[in-house]
Amino acid sequence: MKIYSCETHINRALDEFVAKEETFPNMEPVKNDIKLSTTCEYCEQVPMYVVTNVQSDTTSS
Ligand SMILES: [Zn+2]
Repeated sequence: MKIYSCETHINRALDEFVAKEETFPNMEPVKNDIKLSTTCEYCEQVPMYVVTNVQSDTTSS
């Protein structure tokens, strides 16, 4: 699971992640190239954070 979120909706993204995954979320800043092609999950803003599983960096998505 991966949720892109702007600054406005980051709390909602974290809440939703915890509700669905029942595990502690990892919050990372979004890379610039991803900002160009992706929007916030909840609005049309440029995403500032991506919420993922903590282990997501070592597993294929
Ligand atoms: Zn948003």
